[in-house]
This record gives sequence, C-alpha cells and structure tokens, in this order.
Amino acid sequence: MKQIVFSTHNENKLKEIKKILSDNFKILGLSDLNFDDEIIESGKTLAQNADIKASYINKLYNIDCFADDTGLEINSLNGEPGVYSARYAGDECSSEKNIEKVLNSLSNKKCRKAVFKTVICLVFNNEKYFFEGKVYGSILPKRIGKHGFGYDPIFVPDGFNKTFSQMSMNEKNRISHRAIAVEKLSKFLKSRVTK
Ligand code: IMP
Repeated sequence: MKQIVFSTHNENKLKEIKKILSDNFKILGLSDLNFDDEIIESGKTLAQNADIKASYINKLYNIDCFADDTGLEINSLNGEPGVYSARYAGDECSSEKNIEKVLNSLSNKKCRKAVFKTVICLVFNNEKYFFEGKVYGSILPKRIGKHGFGYDPIFVPDGFNKTFSQMSMNEKNRISHRAIAVEKLSKFLKSRVTK
C-alpha cells in the first residue's frame, strides 16, 4: 500500500484523515517519522504555508506528503486574521485572546462577514497539487457554545442559526472548510490508487 505523510503534529487531524484514507493509503504522521521539530510557517498565504510544510518533509524523507493551513478571513478587517489566525493576538496568544482581539476590532464595524478557509498542499509523485475548502459566515458579537476550538464560538456559518461551537463534532465535520478541502484531497488520491 502506498505511504503518504500528513505533515502535522496534530494527532486529532491525523486520526480524522486516517479514517478517510486508510482503506487505500498508509497514512503516517510526523511522530511516525520521529520528526519533532517545528517547521517555520513563514509564508504570506495559507497556500504558501501548506506548501512549506509539505515540501519540507517531502524533500527530507523523499516521500509523498501533504499539509494543511487554515485561516479566518474577516471582510471588514481586510482579510485579517487570515494567515495569522493562530497568533493574531501576539506570540503568547491563546484562542481566548485571539477572539478578544477580533471582537474588539469589530466593535465599531457594521459588516461582520467572514470566511473560514483551509488549503491543503499535496506533493505526489513529484508534482504539487492544492485543494481548498471555504465556509462563508459571520462573526457574532459574543461567544456562544462549548464545543470545538479556536474561533468556533464566534463563527456562524451561512444557512445556520448557531455557531460552530454549538455543533457536535460530527455536524461540524460534515460542513467545515477542512472537511471540504479533505474531501477534494481524498477524491484526488482515490482516483490515483494503483495498489
Ligand atoms: P491550523 O492551520 O489548522 O493550525 O489553524 C490555524 C488557526 O486557525 C488555529 O490556531 C485556530 O485558531 C484557527 N482554526 C483553524 N481551524 C479552525 C476551526 O475549524 N474552527 C475555529 N478555528 C480554527
């Protein structure tokens, strides 16, 4: 079975991907390679960061590899926090502080529209491919809900009247930006299975 590395230290993401792809591929995480270092995400876009993480491991181990990067782009903040979503409130930040900064920045804005975006970069047989998933929605003035992580408590996807945080993990995973990008990756990889 063909081996592919998911360039992530996040064991939850790895588990999720294995569920989707493990019938056709042997998916390895960075821990399976005993790779403990942090890959510096110095890109200016989500695609560049995903590319950096996938290409680094591909070159180092000469193995097919993919990586993801996600950001929340808010229209009236000119697309911020975007590629800086994980560290919007500074180096010592937390989801709490990041949300606080978003809510403060939006306090005098009328438009609260936003989009969650995930980009996956795949290096496969020495070719590079990109897959994108987007969910449009809006930012609430306060947190609601107890599930999820990151900006989930303040994001209401269009067509719903609850935040990502009010959804069960299964419900969110059916519609999320990451799920859409992963579905595209999965379709592509399954179309290339040689066994
Ligand atoms: P990453 O690229 O998946 O590490 O995501 C970057 C940052 O975006 C994370 O630190 C989270 O704060 C935020 N984020 C990513 N995905 C989600 C999500 O599904 N819901 C809420 N926040 C997210």
